[in-house]
Amino acid sequence: MEQYKLLTPGPLTTTDTVKEEMLFDRCTWDQDYKNITQKIRMQLLDLAEASADDYTTVLMQGSGTFTVESVMTTAMKQQDKALIITNGTYGERIVKMADYIGLHYHHYNVAYNAYPNEQELKYILENDPSITHLVMVHCETTTGILNPIEKISELTKMYDKTFIVDAMSSFGGVEMDIPELGIDFLISSANKCIQGVPGFGFVIAKRDELQACEGNANSLSLDLYDQWKEMDKEGKWRYTSPTHVVAAFSKAIDELIAEGGISARFERYQRNNRLLRDSLEKLGFRAYITDNRQSPIITTFLFPNDTFEFTEFYHYVKEKGFVLYPGKLTEINTFRIGNIGEVYEADIERLCNVIQEYMGVVIK
Ligand SMILES: *Cc1c(COP(=O)(O)O)cnc(C)c1O
Repeated sequence: MEQYKLLTPGPLTTTDTVKEEMLFDRCTWDQDYKNITQKIRMQLLDLAEASADDYTTVLMQGSGTFTVESVMTTAMKQQDKALIITNGTYGERIVKMADYIGLHYHHYNVAYNAYPNEQELKYILENDPSITHLVMVHCETTTGILNPIEKISELTKMYDKTFIVDAMSSFGGVEMDIPELGIDFLISSANKCIQGVPGFGFVIAKRDELQACEGNANSLSLDLYDQWKEMDKEGKWRYTSPTHVVAAFSKAIDELIAEGGISARFERYQRNNRLLRDSLEKLGFRAYITDNRQSPIITTFLFPNDTFEFTEFYHYVKEKGFVLYPGKLTEINTFRIGNIGEVYEADIERLCNVIQEYMGVVIK
């Protein structure tokens, strides 16, 4: 099979050295493996700039959605109520979870290319004191919009609410001061900006918040509190963990640190994203999200004309070594190009040349 670069929001293109870690079979009971788990947990706290006195990390089997659900079922008590802020399908997925779990919530939603309105949020918070939690998605991977987390953070502080952030597609690629933002539960997964392979997610949680969550969960396997209590002893996961994935992730974190940490990775993603947007604009592709709201993670592009055929375009580009992503908007025809993973400016240049070739555009 021909190799190609994934320009997708995860799973993404990983390094050969990350993949090589998976050639060794490890035992979940063995101390060497438990040490890897503990090392990962410490490194994640460092990346989050969070102290081990105030924060802890819990790893959870499954894709990112499982981890979001584990937070939603563990962090809220029966009488609690969440204000769920959405402008995309990942936010809407959290609303769906709330329905499954049977949580009380207020759903505040805005258009997929818009920011939540602070005045409206203030109004909701002032008029409904039963709200205990604020839930938002940081980078909405649906469109690539980077939501104004600082502004929402101010509201959670002002009104003293527990703050849950789905930072799945941004953590590791966008700098965030988690203690400063007052985030109580931050969720991400192995196969996004840290550039591991899929198989588990993680939560960076404020210790005293998580400590108060005993007995909340209505799911055994997704009980984040129980998982924490077991893992905190000496790095043992409850139930079978994805050993190969964990080993690969450990390598991926080391490589992130070697690259220069989150700020360096952000710079690389940002440069790639700018180059992509500028080059495609010259070829007649308009981005759905305005520059000032665009994340460096993934970009949504509108079809350039009425005759544009995504499937044909997709196969043409794939043949030349790049896999793109379909759009997720219902009313507008779009497609997406991701920047995360082992992707460099030379790759973006090659991609743009391929697209130019496809479009038959002559740039003077
Ligand atoms: C990737 C992602 C998830 C999790 O998706 P899975 O397919 O379950 O891994 C959740 N939220 C956001 C914003 C994401 O980008």
